[in-house]
Order: sequence, then structure tokens, then C-alpha cells
Amino acid sequence: MENDQKIDVKSLLPEELAQTVREMGEPAYRASQLFDWMHRKKAGSFDEMTNLPRSFREKLRKRTVYTVLNPLRVQVSKLDGTRKYLFELSDGNCIESVFLPYHHGNSVCVSSQVGCRMGCRFCASTLGGLVRNLSAAEILDQIYRIEEDTGERVSNTVVMGSGEPMDNYENVVRFIRLLSAPEGLHMSQRNITVSTCGIVPGIQRFSREGLQATLALSLHASDDETRRKLMPIAQRYSIAEILSACGEFFRLTGRRVSYEYSVAAGVNDTPEAAEKLIRLLRGRHGHVNLIPVNPVTERSFTEPTREALERFRAALEKGGLNVTIRREMGRDIDGACGQLRRRYQAEQAGRES
Ligand code: SAH
Repeated sequence: MENDQKIDVKSLLPEELAQTVREMGEPAYRASQLFDWMHRKKAGSFDEMTNLPRSFREKLRKRTVYTVLNPLRVQVSKLDGTRKYLFELSDGNCIESVFLPYHHGNSVCVSSQVGCRMGCRFCASTLGGLVRNLSAAEILDQIYRIEEDTGERVSNTVVMGSGEPMDNYENVVRFIRLLSAPEGLHMSQRNITVSTCGIVPGIQRFSREGLQATLALSLHASDDETRRKLMPIAQRYSIAEILSACGEFFRLTGRRVSYEYSVAAGVNDTPEAAEKLIRLLRGRHGHVNLIPVNPVTERSFTEPTREALERFRAALEKGGLNVTIRREMGRDIDGACGQLRRRYQAEQAGRES
């Protein structure tokens, strides 16, 4: 929570903020006013908080850090209005977030870490490894800045940007509590989806948080051998162990799990793969989300043809699974996780040399 002895004030839950404000010698209602400025009015600085006494704002400036992300770049898709943001953090690191306009409500895809250490073979976010975790405020402010920039309300959030949320567990849970707090944006927890590559202890802990959030599992293969070729984390946990943890998540929370399956041509879209997937998931409470793999320059995977994808989907449906094909959005604007940040870094490096 403390950064250079300074309190990360925007990451504090309402009760923690009340305590901190009391310790600063201010009356309790100042904590509510401050929370409202940070999380509902989405203030850009303490200076904007005009109904707080100058002396209190001065104390806040001295003893706390106030996280606000700086939008460096916005790319707008001409195809579908998807907006991809590159934000700068206070230490100069960059992260990506995506705004997805849907008829049933706007969605934002947030990053949970700078980089990632999971090493999935098809993913651009992990190419430079993990740089650091994001604080709860840094995850939240991606949504706040996007609401401010678009003037639109965001009703859904997916933690599917760069990073592995279960590798930054405490801050991600804190982020969910803040985002769903009635005193803040009050987003329904059911509309918040956390996607994991399958870190079993994380899933087990998440099942017991008392949250109503949605869990998405990045499965991507129907046997351990293929999964190990795609995702190094598969060396640690078997599909059987992961699915058992997902079953427990459903029993404890009553929330259905979404099984993500990125389809790479000739790798995991064979008729045998479909058969195995049916055997694994039949009778489980959840559905399969097929995503054609998004080709990344540094990676060798290619997306399936429309026909191959349809064939795979039909096989799964015939086997009794609920299947959706994820609508591809923002293909014209570096859609795949981590691509925009990489391109920006390459440009900066080019400029310096
Ligand atoms: N670390 C988390 C969340 C971030 S990635 C996880 O693994 O779930 C969000 C989703 O996009 C994951 O399912 C991931 O496997 C997938 N993904 C990443 N790069 C991709 C690419 N190039 N094409 C298709 N899906 C990709």
C-alpha cells in the first residue's frame, strides 16, 4: 500500500480511507467527499477537489500519491469504433487498455501488470517478461480515463489485457472491490470478468473471496501435451487439476466459468481436439469461447480459415457444448494484447539510437 512512505490513496477501500483520513486529523465526512472525488467524479488531481479545505489538500499532497494515468495514444478502429489506449504510468512505464462499444453496453479490457511472465507462445504481452504489478488504482484508472475520454459509461470490464491477474492477486481483488463499491462506479461484479491462464491456487482463493465476479479460464487445448506447447504454465498444473478448481469455483460462487479457446490453425482445431474437448467439458457449467488466434509478428501461429473455425464450432455443439465465437474487434489497430505497447517501445528505441 505504501510507496516511498506515501500512501497510495486511490487504492484504499472506503473503510481504509476513513481510517487514514481520521489519522490525518480530519472529520469522517471528508473521507466520503474524497472517495467521491476520486471514484465517482474521477478527478484528475487534488486541486479539482474544491470542496475540500486547502489545508487538507496540502496534507494529501504531502502524505499520499494520487494515481492518474496519462493517455499517450488512442487508436480508433474504423471498422467498429473499438478504441485502443496506450497509457503512461507515473514511473514512465506504459500499458494498454481497450474500449469496446457494444449494443448491450460498453466494455473495457484492462491490463493487470506491465508485461507478463507467463510466456504463452502466441501472446505479445509476455515477449519482454514481467516488469511490475499494477496497483489497484492503476487498474481502475484505465476505466476512469476511458470514461472521461469517451464521455460514455462503461458497464462491463474484462481483466484480459496484459498480465496474469492471479499473479497480482491482492491488487486485482482490491480493484474489483473498488470498482463495484456503491460509493464509486458501482459496477456489478457479475459484469467483471477475470481471465487466468490457470494458476490453481489463485482460482481456489478467488472462489472464496465472497465475490460474484466471472471467471474465464484460458484453456486453449484439450490435452496436456498440446497445452504445454502453447503455455509454459501447463508444466505446473494439469488440465484435470485446473478443471477441478473451476468446478469448485462454480459450486462455491454459483457463477458459470467461461472457457477461452484461442484457435491456432492445425494446432488445436483438429477433429480429435474437438472430441477431447467435448469429453472434458460436457456436463460442466460453462461455455466455450472460441477466439481465432491473432497473429503476432514475433510468433508463428496462424488463424484458422472461417470454414475450419465453423467446422470446429459445429463439432463442439454437436457434442453438447455451448459455444460462441468471439467477435473480432479492432483488427485494424493492433488488436492483440501487448502489440501497441511493443510497437511504441520499438519506435522510442529507434528515436533514441
Ligand atoms: N493472463 C490472462 C489474461 C490476459 S490474456 C490469461 O491468460 O487468461 C487474455 C486472453 O487472450 C487469454 O485467453 C490469452 O490466452 C488470449 N490471447 C493472448 N494473445 C493472443 C493472441 N495473439 N491471439 C488470441 N488470443 C490471445
